[in-house]
Amino acid sequence: MRTEISVDRTWEARRRAPFAHNRQVRDGRTVRVRVAEPLRFLLSVANRGGDVTVPVDGVSSLVHIVESLGVPRTEIGELRVDGDAIEVLPVRRPQRYPDPRFVLDVHLGTLARRMRLLGLDTAYRNDAADAELVAQAAAEERILLTQDRGLLRRRALPAGGYVRGSRPDDQLRDVLDRFDPPLAPWTRCPACNGRLAPVPKREVEHLLEPGTRRSYDEFSRCPACGRPYWRGAHAKRLHAIVIAAKRRGDQDHA
Ligand SMILES: [Zn+2]
Repeated sequence: MRTEISVDRTWEARRRAPFAHNRQVRDGRTVRVRVAEPLRFLLSVANRGGDVTVPVDGVSSLVHIVESLGVPRTEIGELRVDGDAIEVLPVRRPQRYPDPRFVLDVHLGTLARRMRLLGLDTAYRNDAADAELVAQAAAEERILLTQDRGLLRRRALPAGGYVRGSRPDDQLRDVLDRFDPPLAPWTRCPACNGRLAPVPKREVEHLLEPGTRRSYDEFSRCPACGRPYWRGAHAKRLHAIVIAAKRRGDQDHA
């Protein structure tokens, strides 16, 4: 018999039954797990072919079996069960959340700044412990982004994502492609995530280098940390990122 198990990603569903998609499998047997190509990079090198036979202990759920192979539950979109075979499909993109907010682990500082530049509510501290990240994600309903698979397996974590790519540009593209969050460039402080407010030039003039003072007239300031901002060096590149992201979004919705 063939069963399809969809993983409901809404916050409410997670609160009600975070493991509703779990099923247990019978003891004393093996299951064949077939992992879809986009998830195979998460498997150990020996299993990268994507077909793995796993002994079943009678206690583990399907999700735990798949996680034990290296694929965190946050990356599993659907488990298709056909007899003793399990097909593991990735999260369908875009995976949209209403008004999404994020928290990033300590290794993703550059990505955090870029997400903030695009106006995404992005919590980040370079000294946050793993347990603190999970607690913050749960308390503030933030999606935890990381490249640490162990972190994504934490039971207390309501939502998360494994960030693809080693360069910040690739990572940002992956996040935009996966979550398709609404963007509001130039509205957040890249340093502290505060919401920027426009200010008259005269209020920040004393904080500026002479070159900046001469070249720009529109400024904003972060009420949280006091830093002044203007559309300077990053503007062109950021604009290109936004345009690329929007173009992709338009194709999706066409
Ligand atoms: Zn700030």
